[in-house]
Amino acid sequence: MELSDLWKTALSEIELSVGRASFVTWFKDTAIIDADNGRIMVSVPNGFAKEWLQNKYNKFILRAIRNLNPEIKEVGFTIGKPQLAAVRTDRPIQIKKRLMDISEDSSLASEFELKDMNINPETNLNPKYTFDSFVVGSFNELAHAAAQSVVKQSGHVYNPLFIYGGVGLGKTHLIQSIGNELIKQNPKVKVKYVSSEKFMGEIVEALKNQEMNQLKEKYRTCDLLIMDDIQFMAKTEKMQEEFFHTFNALYESNKQIVISSDRPPAAIATLEDRLKSRFEGGMIADIGEPDYETKLTILKLKAEKKGVSIQPEILEYVAQTIKSNIRELEGALNRIILTSKMSNLPPSLEDVKKTLNQVIYAPRKFATPKKIIKAVADFYEISEKEIINRSRKKGVVKPRQVAMYLLRDELKCSFPFIGEKLGRKDHTTAIHAYKKIVDEIKTNLNLEEEIKLIKEKVYTS
Ligand code: ADP
Ligand code: MG
Repeated sequence: MELSDLWKTALSEIELSVGRASFVTWFKDTAIIDADNGRIMVSVPNGFAKEWLQNKYNKFILRAIRNLNPEIKEVGFTIGKPQLAAVRTDRPIQIKKRLMDISEDSSLASEFELKDMNINPETNLNPKYTFDSFVVGSFNELAHAAAQSVVKQSGHVYNPLFIYGGVGLGKTHLIQSIGNELIKQNPKVKVKYVSSEKFMGEIVEALKNQEMNQLKEKYRTCDLLIMDDIQFMAKTEKMQEEFFHTFNALYESNKQIVISSDRPPAAIATLEDRLKSRFEGGMIADIGEPDYETKLTILKLKAEKKGVSIQPEILEYVAQTIKSNIRELEGALNRIILTSKMSNLPPSLEDVKKTLNQVIYAPRKFATPKKIIKAVADFYEISEKEIINRSRKKGVVKPRQVAMYLLRDELKCSFPFIGEKLGRKDHTTAIHAYKKIVDEIKTNLNLEEEIKLIKEKVYTS
């Protein structure tokens, strides 16, 4: 398999793990440019992306690559223009036959395309996110109704509209539908969709290149600004300051602002109070977990869109098995379709059961101290013993503090219990560790993200 195919295949796995929005933001214009001695080198478009991939997604990347080629032990990142980062084809890498078949089948290869060619460069909207393809049930009807009101009276009724809910429940789909619908009704309307991560990246770039004025102009002249995943907005002066001013400028001229987050404004630790109160002055609507009927409707719709027919009992099984998350529901469907295309047979219930038994779709489970300690140890690549025992090794201090924090935050363990459990420390050490992490998360985006990833591990293992 050539490097470009290896990367494409790995990316399709990574996308499932990190979610569409982050995926597009951080993995766009990346390529493997070299592979040597068990180390691959990935070129990225800028320093910001390099930092995020290194600190935040390194593990996902390595895991996905190693699934395809276990000989690879390390991933490095380098900044390079995409056109310079021409993929080298002179050093083929051997990987499992099955996967090679995928990349050679051009109809399947298109499913691994990194760039969504359809994304409108002007608005950043993906045209596939429309109200037409959005299924409404009791779990999302309030958010849906609010979104429709915004279309009818943009800037005048619910401003800002703040939609929150867990991952994969349709926030991005819904808020982009507002933009697509407005443009459909009036092509002159200026819409901008941006995730808070991308927005921050643009600020960093603009500061570096002294292009702040252009950036301000870009966002302050739109009629509808859609800001996705605002929970990632770092509490750094420059970032929030810039967003606050943009927000005010739009708000005061009756331009519509739509925001999404994984939690309500009050629960976003990194958000400044003045922003929180602005958000609370508008309309806040949540999206809950879909019920069985809605999940089934969504599956039918998506299978139909992809032009494949799947037996009803298979769809029913999927709707029952995938508990809460629509993205996983879609991921499961994609996998089923892919598996059946690879074997050239229509999917059978037996195959589907096997496919869905794979770890990533394991039902959400409860946290226990043991799971937390294991997840922390795995994440920081140290042994559980090192966290539990009295070890004072340098690399152990932070993981132990994170474990203490999680035991308190997730399980409400008492501080004496935590101290005793981890390193036989007394309760003041546990309190100190907890407070330290609580404080640090507020300013350290990476730490917040690390903890999020560890939690995901705890609840899916
Ligand atoms: P979130 O932004 O909340 O993490 P997304 O909007 O990215 O979730 O949704 C994940 C996937 O599920 C998308 O492909 C989206 O089209 C699909 N989806 C979510 N909600 C619905 C819905 N109500 N009807 C149809 N598809 C949905
Ligand atoms: Mg989203």
